[in-house]
Parts: sequence; structure tokens; C-alpha cells
Amino acid sequence: MRAVDVIVKKRDGEELTTEEIQYFISGYATGEIPDYQASAWAMAIMLNGMNTREITDLTLAMAYSGEILDLSDFLDVVVDKHSTGGVGDKTSLAVLPLVLACDVQIGKMSGRGLGFSGGTLDKMESIPGFRTDLSKDEFLSQLNEFGLVLSGQTSSLAPADGKLYELRDVTGTVPSLPLIASSIMSKKIAAGAQRIVLDVKAGLGAFLKTVDEARELGRLMVQIAHRAGRKAVGLISDMNQPLGYAVGNALEVKEAIDTLQGNGPADFIEHCLEVAAYMVLLADKAESVDDARQQVEEVYHNGQGWENFRKMVQVQGGDVSYVDQPEKLPKAKLIETVRAFQSGYLSQIHARTVGEMSVVLGAGRRMKGEPINHAVGIVVHHKVGDFVEAGRDLFTIHADDRSALEETRGKLLAAHQWSDTPVDPLPLFYEVIRE
Ligand code: URA
Repeated sequence: MRAVDVIVKKRDGEELTTEEIQYFISGYATGEIPDYQASAWAMAIMLNGMNTREITDLTLAMAYSGEILDLSDFLDVVVDKHSTGGVGDKTSLAVLPLVLACDVQIGKMSGRGLGFSGGTLDKMESIPGFRTDLSKDEFLSQLNEFGLVLSGQTSSLAPADGKLYELRDVTGTVPSLPLIASSIMSKKIAAGAQRIVLDVKAGLGAFLKTVDEARELGRLMVQIAHRAGRKAVGLISDMNQPLGYAVGNALEVKEAIDTLQGNGPADFIEHCLEVAAYMVLLADKAESVDDARQQVEEVYHNGQGWENFRKMVQVQGGDVSYVDQPEKLPKAKLIETVRAFQSGYLSQIHARTVGEMSVVLGAGRRMKGEPINHAVGIVVHHKVGDFVEAGRDLFTIHADDRSALEETRGKLLAAHQWSDTPVDPLPLFYEVIRE
């Protein structure tokens, strides 16, 4: 087989065989196929697409390009969740402790934030001492003893995806649904997941802007899971405005703690209860989604979710005094609350602008590997549809430097749009994809 023939076949819109896809991915992973051929191949896929069988083959080829984490010695069923990323998305922090309280053990590998969308590891590292670089042995022994681990992804996980993703980033081939779906699912499968809840975000602060695109990606990933012998549910959720109120690492940890203690924002609580319910359902711990939801609500109300979060921090080396007294978490030097200049109904709180401004403040990275500031960020005080009177708090900026604060204030004022007539709240979820 020759790489050029596989490229030409896809360039001409033909279907690739399983062997051709495996050949290409293993050749690329070992370096036998150079970047320039892989670029041409990725562009041919981007332009001509792939059918579900090809995408599943691509997913499995990338998953098996490195080590597959086998958690079956420790867990009856391996359940995982994945969010396609958004602004203020601290869901894992609250959801994982809740599902553990429903007897669903989770060994989760999470990522860091890049661009305007945050990452779970960065958020958890706001807690002094919390370790996200567990070795495989540490990961497995914590999973065995406590039942919940939240650690970073090892580089041995789906290495072909890592290499291809970097190439896509510089060759204009990121926004291809077959490439995105296979990239996400290869990492989930390599991390050992058998049942996966996919939180696919749609809107201004998501990388997919429309519900139609999110639905297509959700469907594709659910179909890949089924073809690969796994189970998955896709939840299409809104990302036009920030999830909850807080955006920024320590601010989001505090909001997750408030939530687990029963004092979180209504939209974030509802989002977490729903994601957690589907995880409990997929883990075969409930008869129906309503039954799962009831179980999750019970552990949310009785504080077991909060206890598990606290314990996870402790067993992973974090200083629990920071979660017992969240006022100890890193704090910005300048904290300014901006008030509404007018009365009216909020018709938009542009999530992407909020996310981008949190990066300007230092909460996120423009480039991979950049350091971040855990203290800074933004807290919005309302949701779309709220009536806000002039003079009421609109948002609070947590900054460490004056010029970033000034820039953020102006952009955030413009990110809030107003209407004289009532505006419907945004939905939390658009639909659930099961097949
Ligand atoms: N996230 C991934 O892991 N891969 C993509 O291609 C896009 C988003």
C-alpha cells in the first residue's frame, strides 16, 4: 500500500477501507508517513467527508495507536463524560462527586483550557497542592480505594490523535466533523470508557455555533460509540451565555463548591443534575432516566456530593482548608462591580466575549503551555431573560492589572444586550441523542 494512493482515493471522494485507514494512521504515528502527506489526507477528508464506518475505523485506529487504559479490573462498567467545551463549564467538578455518591466510580482524564474555553485541570489547580499529574499506579490505586480520580491525560493516550490534531491546527483542517468526532472519541476509548455521556455545546461560546451542527456531531459520536461496542448519549446543550455565573479558575471552583453545598446558580445545578443522571443511567444503576435523576437529586440534597468533592481534593493532595473556606482561594488584586446603566430585559450575554475577556484577564491561554492566573475572571450576575433595573449589579471583574480591567469592562458592557420587551430564557438543553 502507498500513502499517496490512499490520499488520491479520498481526494476523489471514494470510501476508504478499514485496512487503508489503519495503514495511514499507523504509518503517520510511527513517522513513516510524513506531515505533508497527512496534511493532504486530512484536507481530503475535510472536503469530501467520511461515512460512519470510515469514521469509526479512524477512531479505533487512533485509539489503538497507543496504550488503552483498562479499568475493567477495578470497575464493573467504565463510565465517562465529555464536554465539547464552553465558557463557565465547570460541570465535571460538581457532576463526578454526585455520580460517585450514586455508586458510580469514575477514573477521569481531563484536559486544560485553550483559547476562550476553560479546562477542568486548570480549575482544580486553583486549590493549592491538588495534583493533576498522577502516575498510572497512583491513578489506579486512587480509583480502587476511593472510586474517583480526576487527572491529566497521559501523552501515551491516542498519540496519533495528538499528532494529527497539532497538524490540523496549522493546516485549516480543524472544523471537519469526521475529524472532530474521531478525535474526541479516540481519546475516550483509549481512556477505557465503555459508556459515555457527551455534552455537545451549541452557541456563541461553543466551537459549534448552531444546534444543527451540534446535533450532527452528537449523532456522529453516538453512532461511533455504538459501532465500537460502547454506549453513549449525546446531550445538546446551550452555550450562548456562560454556564452558571462564574468564569475563571478559582471563581469557578468556588461556584462548584457553592453548588454542591446547595447554593449554586439554578441553570448550573439543573445542568449538572441532568448530566449526572445520564451517567448514572448509563452505568446501569437506574431503571430509567427519571429514577437516575431522583437518585442524583437525593445525593445532591443530602450533601454526599459535597463530601465526595472534599474527599477527592484531600486524597489528591489538595489543601482542604481552601475548599472548606473558599475565601482562601487565590484572589485578584482589583475587584470591580459594574452596574447596569439602563433598565430592561437582557437579551444576550455573549458567551464568547465573556470567555475571551477572561483570557485577556489571564484566566486562560492564547498558546498551549502558557501559564495562567487562577485568581482572575468574571462573574456575571444575570441570565438572558432577566429583568434588570438600572443601578443593579451587572457583572464583576476580578483582575490583576488595570488595563485588562478597563478593556474587559468596555467589552462586557457591549456583550450585554437589552430589550424593552420580555425575552424568553435560553433553554439549557435542546435535545437528547440516543442513536
Ligand atoms: N476536541 C478534540 O479533542 N478534537 C477535536 O478535533 C476538536 C475538539
